[in-house]
Amino acid sequence: AIASAGFALLFVMGGVWISWRPDNEAEDEFVQAIRNGEFIPYYQPVMDIETGKLRGCEVLMRWQRPDGSVISPGQFMTFAETSGHIFEMTRQVMRKTRAEMADLYHENPELKLSVNLFAGHFEDRQIVEDIVQVYGDSRIAYQQIVLEVTERQPLGNMDLARKIIAELQALGVRVALDDVGTGHGGLAYLQRLGIDIIKIDKMFIDYLGTDDNSTTIVDTLVELADNLGMGIIAEGVETMEQIERLRALGVSAAQGYIFAPPLPAKLFIDLAKALAAK
Ligand code: C2E
Ligand code: CA
Ligand code: CA
Ligand code: CA
Repeated sequence: AIASAGFALLFVMGGVWISWRPDNEAEDEFVQAIRNGEFIPYYQPVMDIETGKLRGCEVLMRWQRPDGSVISPGQFMTFAETSGHIFEMTRQVMRKTRAEMADLYHENPELKLSVNLFAGHFEDRQIVEDIVQVYGDSRIAYQQIVLEVTERQPLGNMDLARKIIAELQALGVRVALDDVGTGHGGLAYLQRLGIDIIKIDKMFIDYLGTDDNSTTIVDTLVELADNLGMGIIAEGVETMEQIERLRALGVSAAQGYIFAPPLPAKLFIDLAKALAAK
């Protein structure tokens, strides 16, 4: 049922596509948007494909402008990161997740909340302070938080990144390696960073079943995760066939349009409650 609901929602939400490019006024526009609180969290469900239960969500940032249009990170994230505004934007979005998810997460302690960070977050201990400030003493426990570091971006200082990750883990937060198989880090990141969870990139999921190499790669990642004691999540799942293949390969957590696109808080909470009531 949630699978078909996903496509219906996608259809409804796919209507908003607004283009934005950084120009001369981008800097002022961004400062103003941050001041107005226009950067907000959307929530994409992560499902347990063995039990059909909700595992939690991934927080995906959106720019909601005063005219009601919603802009996706593909259009502003590079500017946000190179300008350095991403740090304040991330704090803002995390504070909103704390407010919006407090009740749901307090009532469902098994739910996880995944937040995306960028490479620059692992070059400064400030992120540890940010996490403590936002989630310490909140109704969302550190044990419910997962921070995603992407393999797409090179980490400037591996030793410092390792230290920051260890400090976060000491709080009870877990760290996931995102976009595994696509980028710089690969096995070195897995070995040296103390990663808890790996996220298999959509690229491999897309070809599951149609291309033997993809199946072998996913199979190998599952075995690697098992042997290293790490969790595994498949992303970008769009078809029932992919779900079947993932089950057969022993992957139990997945997210993708087949379940639901990233949703505004209220829709995600409604979905979580509907699933819990089943
Ligand atoms: P990501 O972390 O790899 O997030 C997954 C992206 O895939 C999201 O795009 C999501 O909407 C999309 N997606 C999910 N399921 C499916 C599916 O079944 N099919 C397809 N085609 N796409 C799917 P989105 O929300 O546009 O975000 C793009 C990227 O922007 C993210 O990729 C992440 O790298 C970055 N990003 C998003 N939010 C944040 C944030 O708060 N902080 C930082 N630093 N980066 C963020
Ligand atoms: Ca991610
Ligand atoms: Ca990803
Ligand atoms: Ca990806």
